[in-house]
Amino acid sequence: MNLKAIFIDIDNTLLDFNEYVVEAMKNGFERFNIGKFEPYMADCFHDVNNNLWRQIEDGKIDFLTLRKIRWNKVFEILGYSYDGESFERYFRSFLRESAIPIEGAYEVLSYLKSKYIVCLASNGPTDQQTHRIELASMSRYIDYYFTSEYIGVSKPKREYFEKCFELLNENRSDIIKPNECLMIGDSLSSDIYGALEYGMYTCLYERGSMLNHGYLNNAHYTVEKLTDIIKLLEEEL
Ligand SMILES: [Mg+2]
Repeated sequence: MNLKAIFIDIDNTLLDFNEYVVEAMKNGFERFNIGKFEPYMADCFHDVNNNLWRQIEDGKIDFLTLRKIRWNKVFEILGYSYDGESFERYFRSFLRESAIPIEGAYEVLSYLKSKYIVCLASNGPTDQQTHRIELASMSRYIDYYFTSEYIGVSKPKREYFEKCFELLNENRSDIIKPNECLMIGDSLSSDIYGALEYGMYTCLYERGSMLNHGYLNNAHYTVEKLTDIIKLLEEEL
């Protein structure tokens, strides 16, 4: 690999979204008297959430629809009666202030920044994701913020990657090609599939969650610990 730029996902790659969900549900259920929180309930949220994100990735629904129905679906399954849209507002305001780093994230970012152009590649709202990266003191390692809201379409769409490369190569005389870039992320359906289709190198950060069940892992590389990415890049170069 002759790499020039790294694309890296945010949620469950750099910042711990799963841990955040547990905290938000625990606090929110108590604060609004919704009912008792049990750990399995976070899994229920992830099932609903992953399913809705797949529909976004397939272009069947948009992010606004997800926000309307996500928590109503979760509460329906859990048998709790609470207004899902109002819980969604709480959930998102709580998320905006959440920045729980994944183990090894700073070490990896610092290494990547010393050698490559670093691009965040995240499906999510620009203000929220940029704010969380700043809260985590990670912005100093980042050269480009490619959020789906800013780009106008989501991973894994081809148009998403097209637009990222258009921005990456703006005012650059030595054009960076997809095969000079590596995409790192935890999702086979959005991060890996999209980047592979676009001709980039891919590295799956496998966290052992339910997220990738039913998908074939055809990533070039797979790591279980984030810091293994450093070893991988040192060996491959
Ligand atoms: Mg992710």
